[in-house]
Amino acid sequence: MMVEEIKLIDYRNYKQLQLQFHPKLNIFVGENAQGKTNILEALYLCAIGKSFRTSKDQELVKILKDHAYIKTTISKTTDKTEIEILINKESSKRIKINKLSLTKYGDLLGNLNVVLFSPEDLKIIKEGPSERRRFINNDISQILPRYYHTLTQYNKILQQRNKVLKNYKGKTLDLEVWDEQLIERGAWLIVYRKKFIKRIAILAKLMHKKITEGLELLEVQYDSNIKIKEEDELKDIKEKFKQALKEIKPLEEKRGLTLVGPHRDDLIFKINGLEVKTYGSQGQQRTTVLSLKLAELELMRGEVGEYPILLLDDVMSELDKKRQNYLIKNLKNVQTFITTTMMEPLNIKSQEEYKLFSVCNGEINRLS
Ligand code: ATP
Ligand code: MG
Repeated sequence: MMVEEIKLIDYRNYKQLQLQFHPKLNIFVGENAQGKTNILEALYLCAIGKSFRTSKDQELVKILKDHAYIKTTISKTTDKTEIEILINKESSKRIKINKLSLTKYGDLLGNLNVVLFSPEDLKIIKEGPSERRRFINNDISQILPRYYHTLTQYNKILQQRNKVLKNYKGKTLDLEVWDEQLIERGAWLIVYRKKFIKRIAILAKLMHKKITEGLELLEVQYDSNIKIKEEDELKDIKEKFKQALKEIKPLEEKRGLTLVGPHRDDLIFKINGLEVKTYGSQGQQRTTVLSLKLAELELMRGEVGEYPILLLDDVMSELDKKRQNYLIKNLKNVQTFITTTMMEPLNIKSQEEYKLFSVCNGEINRLS
């Protein structure tokens, strides 16, 4: 799939903007704080419905303005889709697809698929499990909107269950009603995470092997706090989740918190048997993320039938020549949006087709 055009009104530092994109490669070059990432953020917003930088939509509205408007035209092999987002400073945002208003925000997912790679993604490796869960959740939700709906329901039940545990901390409670619902949704989430991680692990291993010319073996493992086995199916997982809740109940009552379930899952990355988080060099950590991102592209293509768009925010200069070349070579069929402060490290040959835009203080000009 590809984004043909974007239109912005009073979005971030853009007063008004209309751009036609190149079907393959789009490069945004400019100094710091000019509006490069803002463009990628607007594209991401049309895919996921929220920014990757803030959870506060109001921040996206240009200072001193009341509304921001973002429109993208997406073309796929078989059809065209127009996504419009209107952000009002005072109320919640409104989304339209082909002029029809969405009643559920989750219905946006799947219209435009995106893979984002930014320096922040190193957090997937370095920081706590919530970053890794966010990675898993965002990705599966794009491929399978039902996952997003189930996750939302799970989180609501979890919140209510936690409230009961917190309010009656130290007491013996009957949590059966909550448990049933938690297990129903939670086990389903685990099944899909297990499937997703298994496939991403195979693809990432392959990518990593190629990038490191066979020197490094990358493993991605699902670390569920419910001791599930490879062959476990939905009913086995439900049973194990139930058992785990039963065993931990006294501790949950004491602590006033739900202590087992997919909201406590994690991922483990290993290179040649050693955990990347603890033992990996900076370069290995970056390469692991690169392998993961390339795996995401392939996985989405396999599921959706078309490649997602790829947003590379400031990452090229962080990769060495070999990895940059590998990346560019592997993106032949993916519409890619690159931001950079310098053209030089991009190492893109002049005969290659692309559109080059200069970004300066909320204005964009095409250079070539
Ligand atoms: P860098 O190279 O440092 O990453 P960038 O070109 O990617 O820079 P962006 O993050 O896209 O920069 O844009 C930042 C600019 O947008 C800043 O000048 C900031 O003041 C401005 N900006 C951000 N939000 C708003 C807003 N709501 N209204 C007006 N201007 C805004
Ligand atoms: Mg930026």
